Amino acid sequence: MTWVRREDLEDRELHLLAPFAAQSRHAGGRRLAESEDPLRTRFQRDRDRIIHSSAFRRLQHKTQVFAAHEGDHYRSRMTHSLEVAQMARGAAIALRLNPDLAEAVALAHDLGHPPFGHVGEECLDELMQGEGGFRHNAQGCRIVDYLEDRYGHRHGLNLTLLVRRSLLKGRIPENFPISDDLLPRQDPPLEANLVDKCDKIAYLCHDLDDALRAGLVQEKQAAELGLWQAACQRCGDDSRQRILSEMVALLFQDLVSASDAALAEAATRGRPRIGSSDRMQVQSSELLAFLKEHFYRSERVLSDMRAGREKIEGLFCRFLEHPAEIPPKARSRAERDGLRRVVCDYMAGMTDRFLLRQEA
Ligand code: MG
Repeated sequence: MTWVRREDLEDRELHLLAPFAAQSRHAGGRRLAESEDPLRTRFQRDRDRIIHSSAFRRLQHKTQVFAAHEGDHYRSRMTHSLEVAQMARGAAIALRLNPDLAEAVALAHDLGHPPFGHVGEECLDELMQGEGGFRHNAQGCRIVDYLEDRYGHRHGLNLTLLVRRSLLKGRIPENFPISDDLLPRQDPPLEANLVDKCDKIAYLCHDLDDALRAGLVQEKQAAELGLWQAACQRCGDDSRQRILSEMVALLFQDLVSASDAALAEAATRGRPRIGSSDRMQVQSSELLAFLKEHFYRSERVLSDMRAGREKIEGLFCRFLEHPAEIPPKARSRAERDGLRRVVCDYMAGMTDRFLLRQEA
């Protein structure tokens, strides 16, 4: 009996994965040179570092839509990240892309979110105007590259270049402090695009589930959605949970089949487009508009968010005036990063409940 070594896993990748897939052998190196792990590929090692980080553990007390302390059955950013990772891994296997890379990126994709979701993000961005701003994706890179300093070498989790590049999506505010080697930006691997699509499927379906559970949306309203009707028809059942899980299956299978067609076509036409079919995109947009109207902008959610915003603004000013209240480890970065950025990093790392516990 011989065990499976890293080299064997790398050979498997070579045989099993599609030509467009990322090979862990070509993960792009780490900023600080390290010897290889005997058993895990580079992406598997990165995934494990992400899971063991304190930024990942804090996701359990961070808001998805509802404040994370509200009820035991609503999603937090951690349960959301796990759902995305499970889907991304499954979709990557089906498409013969690299499942370990997809999983690592999915688990890390929300690490940079501040407390109180998008309201927290907006608020910190305003408070950092003229000083590099704030954006959760760029913050995620800052966490894995620098802030998560468990080894004391100031290179954060020291992940591979390909994983770090995959985390950098969306707008980066001008002068936001991220590592030089991530710029200029390059096309991320297809696994990163896949995670992005799975993220959307996960939040659309679970937010609808949470909104129904909270009574902010009634089933008969949801039943007017095209996607709900298609799911209901396909499962031949009218129980809410069956329909919701059928919706996930419909979106997921459509993503895989449409992306598979794009991958096949791209063999002759350059970079493939990972994504859903046009029909499913229309149905997803309808669901998103529905959630915006009935859930994201509902008074119950908005009033929570207003309270979070006030708290963030008040506390930000207090830490600027009394830096001695910031924990020493974070404060020690002030010389390099400036006090304002230190306050921003510290507050972005807070969970909702930790923030609420602070005295204004
Ligand atoms: Mg997400």
